[in-house]
Amino acid sequence: MDAAPGHLDDLERLFEAQRDASRCGEPASWAVRADRLRRLRGVIGANRAAYAQAISMDFGQRSRHETELLEVAHVLDGIDHALAHGQRWMRAAPRAVGWKFWPGRAALLPQPLGVAGIVTPWNYPLDLSLGPATSALVAGNRTMIKLSELTPRFGALLAESCAREFDANELCIVNGDVEVARRFCRLAFDHLLFTGSTAVGREVMRAASATLTPVTLELGGKSPAIIGPGITSDADFERAVARLIIGKTFNAGQTCIAPDHVYLPRAKQDRFIASARRAVRRFYPALPDTPDYTSIITDQHYARLGALVDEAVSQGATAHALADAAHDAARRLFMPVALTGMNEASRVLREEIFGPVLPVLPFDDLDEVITRINNAPRPLALYLFERDRRRIERVLARTVAGGVTLNDTFMHVGPPQLPFGGVGASGMGAYHGKAGFDAFSHMKPVFSQRRFHPVSWLYPPYGVRAERILR
Ligand code: NAD
Repeated sequence: MDAAPGHLDDLERLFEAQRDASRCGEPASWAVRADRLRRLRGVIGANRAAYAQAISMDFGQRSRHETELLEVAHVLDGIDHALAHGQRWMRAAPRAVGWKFWPGRAALLPQPLGVAGIVTPWNYPLDLSLGPATSALVAGNRTMIKLSELTPRFGALLAESCAREFDANELCIVNGDVEVARRFCRLAFDHLLFTGSTAVGREVMRAASATLTPVTLELGGKSPAIIGPGITSDADFERAVARLIIGKTFNAGQTCIAPDHVYLPRAKQDRFIASARRAVRRFYPALPDTPDYTSIITDQHYARLGALVDEAVSQGATAHALADAAHDAARRLFMPVALTGMNEASRVLREEIFGPVLPVLPFDDLDEVITRINNAPRPLALYLFERDRRRIERVLARTVAGGVTLNDTFMHVGPPQLPFGGVGASGMGAYHGKAGFDAFSHMKPVFSQRRFHPVSWLYPPYGVRAERILR
């Protein structure tokens, strides 16, 4: 194991120490939780520029602004929201009970679960480690985070900066390869939140079953976008395509909630390619010499994207370069490409793309699209661009997705007031804001009995009175 500086290099020992700490003494008071959240905020504030630089180096190139906007700002919002509402969340919440239980009283008492494990992918390593950690900490847990082996510079820096502010018994960062990740997932956490691919999510759930560790799985998949028949004016169409393109090109498409492919009315295909080219030129006018466009994380992923496009083209599809620049293999800059004339058997229509490749799928009737979405694994996100209220309601009612943004991409993941999570193959459970507090808490039902209560009438010996009450 590649241990964080200053930490014990024994994963099990770190876990045992956190577990022992979580099992003795008082549960973390609000003062303790708030102090941890403020220290986390302080660590991020003090290191945000260095984090962005380390993430950029791990990728090859990633804009500081993108890291600030999509990771730092999002986590800080989540911490501020937790600081503003956490004290209320942790209060026992009275629950009204029916007259048969009067005059007893009932309440739900949230309790820390103990030790939380968090496994993080490489694509948003700051947001997807410290976002779940915010939920675990506000719920009063000890927390261990395993970072991806593909973000080693950021991993080392996060470990070092957190170790300066946190005791390893409160929050500790583990770095290392996939074997370390496997061992991590076998620890008997009180809750494990895994973010990553659906395939690895299955393995994680299997590992967690040995210790009966409850899991939140934040997984991937193919999130569809639909440009509906109601987007008719040039201005609406141009805006819809630009918003779709930014969702596909942020982080070079390496985003779990990126629109994977787009459905649009058959007649609008040519217009779409022209608008998409304009959008790419507008967002990245200096490609390939711009720091704003992100590299593909590894040579293997770069080659995988090229192979997906080549295979689709060999099966009859047309590839439309959306940028004027050529791909740059040395810097792993994969230029945005749209695909039309797809063969249904193409891998690009079956596998999660996770890069700036956009299959365009024409439709004649919106119901066809609904059927296709319902025949596919449940997506993490769904995007619908449409002005007609009835069409919007039809799509919302008849499809199931982790979350939806109407007339834009990404936005439903931003506000801490909304839970974030997948459904079916795209995940189980949710976090962010109160949903995150709930995920890492045990909601303990507590019933307080009074000195005199009518239930005692039901005690044996049973007789006429009990018969009457039970009727
Ligand atoms: P991945 O599944 O390969 O790895 C995720 C993490 O799991 C890494 O830290 C890795 O070290 C660890 N890991 C790998 N094998 C493991 C095993 N056998 N047991 C335990 N842990 C193991 O995913 P990735 O390539 O890092 O990230 C991309 C995937 O993550 C995409 O599918 C994407 O959609 C998904 N994702 C989902 C969300 C979400 O919030 N739903 C967010 C970001 C990424």
